[in-house]
Amino acid sequence: MQKWIGRGKTAYDRSVIPPSTDWPDKERPARFAPLPDEALDALVVVLDEVRFGRSRSRSELVARTGLGRAIVAQRVGELIERGLVAEDDVGPSTGGRPPRQLTFRADGGHILVADLGATSVDVAVTTLDGRILGHHDEPARIEAGPDQGLDRVDALFDSLLRTTQALPGRLWGIGIGVPGPVEFDSGRPISPPIMPGWDGYPIRERFAARYGAPVWVDNDVNVLALGEWRSGVAAGHNNVVVVKIGTGIGAGIISDGHLHRGAQGSAGDVGHIQVTDDRSVVCRCGNVGCLEALAGGEAIGNAGKVAALDGRSPRLLAALDQRGAVSAEDVARAASFGDAVAMALLQDAGRRVGSMLASVVNFFNPSLIVIGGGVANSPDQLLAAIRESIYRRSLPLATRDLLVQRSSLGGLAGVIGASSMVVDQLFSRDAIGAWIAAGEPSGAPGVT
Ligand SMILES: [Zn+2]
Repeated sequence: MQKWIGRGKTAYDRSVIPPSTDWPDKERPARFAPLPDEALDALVVVLDEVRFGRSRSRSELVARTGLGRAIVAQRVGELIERGLVAEDDVGPSTGGRPPRQLTFRADGGHILVADLGATSVDVAVTTLDGRILGHHDEPARIEAGPDQGLDRVDALFDSLLRTTQALPGRLWGIGIGVPGPVEFDSGRPISPPIMPGWDGYPIRERFAARYGAPVWVDNDVNVLALGEWRSGVAAGHNNVVVVKIGTGIGAGIISDGHLHRGAQGSAGDVGHIQVTDDRSVVCRCGNVGCLEALAGGEAIGNAGKVAALDGRSPRLLAALDQRGAVSAEDVARAASFGDAVAMALLQDAGRRVGSMLASVVNFFNPSLIVIGGGVANSPDQLLAAIRESIYRRSLPLATRDLLVQRSSLGGLAGVIGASSMVVDQLFSRDAIGAWIAAGEPSGAPGVT
């Protein structure tokens, strides 16, 4: 593996970016008395209850968490004092004095996020509950390497910070999604097949040095799964598989109410499951017979090109003549106009993805499968074929209450998910202990 050392790019242009922190030059002093470990345990439980809207009052917190009334009152007081929870008088009245309603202060700070795909980049600035305050997307080639790709992200972040009106609080954290396997603890891509030059690249260190805020990096499919789970169609489900069909194919797994990253962070790499012995099906990972090499966006585009050259589809031939290539989007567009060849290509890809997912369903027993990614925005043929294959090939008990749905957040799922990743990590038991005394995470050492 190629090893990277610090790039020394710590210069932080204070004329461009609002000064959000003095870290790491000078740690900010503690504003609050430190909390003992057992208080922190309960603080995280109470904060999560309020943050996810499960409890809106002290009595609901007592009933739902099993914590004593005095403990709940103390923790709520600490959260209000630290600006993480607010209290107002708008709770539903039950006859007597209206109950005071507890809400999460999502405007305590802001989060910067970037979702890097194989052929695009999305950046956004959000509140602490994932509400998008500013967003920009543009074509980008991940294969151009980390220096070019991340310099562009820096420029887009700077532009967002400059142009977004009424940015709340300071910068609390940065979230980055990349289209390849990531070692989550270090925030580094590990042998990513479609990201030449990125192997072991210190993405976290680079952004932390520039912005002085904690940084988390994950693969784009985990980020997509978090977005759908926190804010999309998967909300309320505890066992979910989110499949992304873009240039490649991957899956994010919510297992028993947690994102399951696996021992090395490579869980859900379903695109490289072998589905054929045909040695002519060569995958970009170096193996033969991978699902992705038959049903991924690139494979669909290539099959469309063959059909165009064979004279089987005038519509795909027109796309080829126009741009010199056929993409999965061209196939999807042709299918939406009723092109029989394009429809058959999507059905074939859908059947192959569905057949793989049937094995996943038998193994994992999810209550919901979400189909997302650029190719999934295609007409119904793809989703119908996926559904049909799953139900036909899975065990009846596993599919009895199984739902298969399209992504509900569309192109914004990645940035919303990256924001959720950062906030979940900031409010995790380990991280909050490192910054709660300082009042906010930027500037506090040891958060990541
Ligand atoms: Zn492969």
